[in-house]
Amino acid sequence: MASQRTNPPETERTAEEAPESESALGTARRQLRRAADHLDINPNVIERLKHPNQVHEVTVPIERDDGTVEVFTGYRAQHDSVRGPFKGGLRFHPDVTRDECVGLGMWMTWKCAVMDIPFGGAKGGIAVNPKELSTTEKERLTRRFAQELRDVIGPNRDIPAPDMGTDSQTMSWLMDAYSMQEGETIPGVVTGKPTVIGGSEGRQEAPGRSVAIITREACEYHDIPLDEATVAVQGYGSVGANAARLLDTWGATVVVISDVNGAMYDPSGIDTASVPAHDEQPEVVAERADEVISNAELLELNVDILVPSAIGNVITESNADAIRADLVVEGANGPTTPAADEMLAAADIPVIPDILANAGGVTVSYFEWLQDINRRSWSLEQVQDELESEMKSAWDAVRTEYERRDVSWREATYIVALTRTADAYRSRGLWP
Ligand code: GLU
Repeated sequence: MASQRTNPPETERTAEEAPESESALGTARRQLRRAADHLDINPNVIERLKHPNQVHEVTVPIERDDGTVEVFTGYRAQHDSVRGPFKGGLRFHPDVTRDECVGLGMWMTWKCAVMDIPFGGAKGGIAVNPKELSTTEKERLTRRFAQELRDVIGPNRDIPAPDMGTDSQTMSWLMDAYSMQEGETIPGVVTGKPTVIGGSEGRQEAPGRSVAIITREACEYHDIPLDEATVAVQGYGSVGANAARLLDTWGATVVVISDVNGAMYDPSGIDTASVPAHDEQPEVVAERADEVISNAELLELNVDILVPSAIGNVITESNADAIRADLVVEGANGPTTPAADEMLAAADIPVIPDILANAGGVTVSYFEWLQDINRRSWSLEQVQDELESEMKSAWDAVRTEYERRDVSWREATYIVALTRTADAYRSRGLWP
């Protein structure tokens, strides 16, 4: 029973006052405060948005294949639902904590608002290393987690999706467990499902596709010709691999890609389609490389565009001054710490934030939810066309604030998201 982790809640004070807090919650609160400084928003609304609506902590016991019972801790942090049902992923990862879920849930609120889709924000997960579980153990864990969360999720209440360590199979088990208990098939309770049970075409590649679309727009804005640009992509999962492949197709030269074991470096350009993404064959990127460099070296290469798409907190105070890219586009959630963000701003390196760049994932989740509740599926072409147009609208809204207020891309993105959220609060009012 060694795997139970019950990390105590990080207080607001420690999250905000640590000089270089690397917690998602600390970062999310700092970013909220910075954006709020630019806006004339009721301080009570800002105060409210610093906190989640509620955080559900559940105990998830499972029987291991050897007959022993192991107990894990799961969370669902529901940050805000003023614009619609809570929405966001579930991660299975050893580092999952209550506060990480709150911070990531807060980012989902902004992500949905900046995309102007009618959802709020949530995030959850289980503190577990999924690599140490068999498929049947993962299934038992997921079904039990679904049962523990049954009262607080639902197609009109809170709609989970895949995140780190979970995938379409996880969503399938979750949907099945929920539906069995409710006595009817309810596909809209989760997104990111396989297409045979109501998943959407194009959902899997959507976060990477949006990263590529936003990179293309940002390159145009900053006069970086995409077909002459060199690109470094950290992480080769659904975000990194799809972004790399699309940018490659659009004429950019992807010179480095990586997985957890290291990076494949080829200054003449990598044929990205020939390297399996994590879901096709996990952890073979470094293995297949002629020249391997470390993930840390990848970040410091002299490329035009850097796309960190693996995990959070990789660009920090200690390496930000070594970043030589002309443009950073955040594929992962929270790859840049606040101190690093300031250092990149001082060095005049634009950083396009995660809540805009990778928002294609939740946007196609919204399309999936629409297809589920309407019982009508869309073609891949329709999904891609709608995603393209949603991403361009969000980009235009953010660019308008960027130009008007002379702020960073992150601040401009937060300004759009926060204004929409605050407007919804103003319209609905506080009850009673
Ligand atoms: N986990 C993804 C994200 O961080 C997708 C969430 C969703 O589709 O609800 O954006």
